[in-house]
Amino acid sequence: MNILLVAGARPNFIKIAPIIDAIKTKQAQGINIDYKLIHTGQHYDKNLSDTFFTELDIPLPDTNLNVKSGTQAEQTAAIMVGFEKELQQHQCDLVMVVGDVTSTMACAIVAKKAGIKVAHVEAGIRSGDLNMPEEINRIVTDSLTDYFFTTSTHANNNLLKLGVDKRNIFFVGNVMIDTLIKNEHRLKQPNIWNNLNLKPKSYLVMTLHRPSNVDEKNNLKTLISQITTLAKKHTIVFPVHPRTQKVLKDLDLNFNNLHYINPLGYLEFNYIVKHALAVITDSGGITEETTVMNVPCITLRSSTERPETCDIGTNVLVGNKTEKIAKAFGFLFSKAWKQGQIPELWDGKAAERIINHLIAIYQLQ
Ligand code: UDP
Repeated sequence: MNILLVAGARPNFIKIAPIIDAIKTKQAQGINIDYKLIHTGQHYDKNLSDTFFTELDIPLPDTNLNVKSGTQAEQTAAIMVGFEKELQQHQCDLVMVVGDVTSTMACAIVAKKAGIKVAHVEAGIRSGDLNMPEEINRIVTDSLTDYFFTTSTHANNNLLKLGVDKRNIFFVGNVMIDTLIKNEHRLKQPNIWNNLNLKPKSYLVMTLHRPSNVDEKNNLKTLISQITTLAKKHTIVFPVHPRTQKVLKDLDLNFNNLHYINPLGYLEFNYIVKHALAVITDSGGITEETTVMNVPCITLRSSTERPETCDIGTNVLVGNKTEKIAKAFGFLFSKAWKQGQIPELWDGKAAERIINHLIAIYQLQ
């Protein structure tokens, strides 16, 4: 069988790496399975794209649609036009999309309209917040998906509630955690470790990129000011996402304990996360990685599509209000943070399970 695998943005690259490895392992065992990788070009900045291919040893894409930036509609449209041409040129049995970015949704629509089956890796997760562009991407993608590969029982239940046939839901675990488990021994100390004289479990790492937190100047200013003030005794390392940088460049925001740096590669970023006292973030994937590494995580959002990171993991949702953020820091600084547990099947074998299911569905030999 031929799979057209789609990736477009930073978290996608981290998710496809183990899927490609699992396909190659089966190929080496003589099983008739192959793939082509399509990079939509949604993220094209070296720091958000090329670095991950090199570090995680992901083969170069067969095609890059080079869509680059634009409004939500411009990007969606450009990906759809490019991907439709791609589908006309490459026959495939299945289009596999991962995560919840614009590329995920756009390629699922094109594939389904072309009569090709769609597999969605990380299907079924929902924040319930339609102000998040990703929630719209999740809903649209899952409404067109044929094979749903899920990370949690929450996701399974969401899909069952929508009336999805349970025979098409495959609870496989978390491919993002496959990548973490595979690479944990390779994590690399970045230069800033020495430059900032960082010591294990003494500093904080912060990432911000959700439109609701970063697009509006005053919101962003208030958020950063309150965090740096509340954590004034701690160094905060802040790898700045390009979206956030666009807004920050017009704000003259300087605090002694806040250190702006470029986005880091995967191995360096997860090194500083693993040794941090805590992470402050509005990312989804990072709440999963901190849960697995047992690092306290303060999430600057009021909802999450990954409730298991709060129920049993190390994550706490604080929204953007000072009182809640202060309360979370209170727990952290008094060493009263909860101990996390690792969610079911987050064991490094999700991609292998996905490919085994496809082998069974397509009766491959
Ligand atoms: N990440 C990284 N370098 C950074 C920040 C994040 O490698 O400077 C990785 C992080 O380990 C995680 C992924 O990027 O695997 C999360 O991506 P992002 O927060 O952009 O997306 P989300 O998970 O919110 O969709």
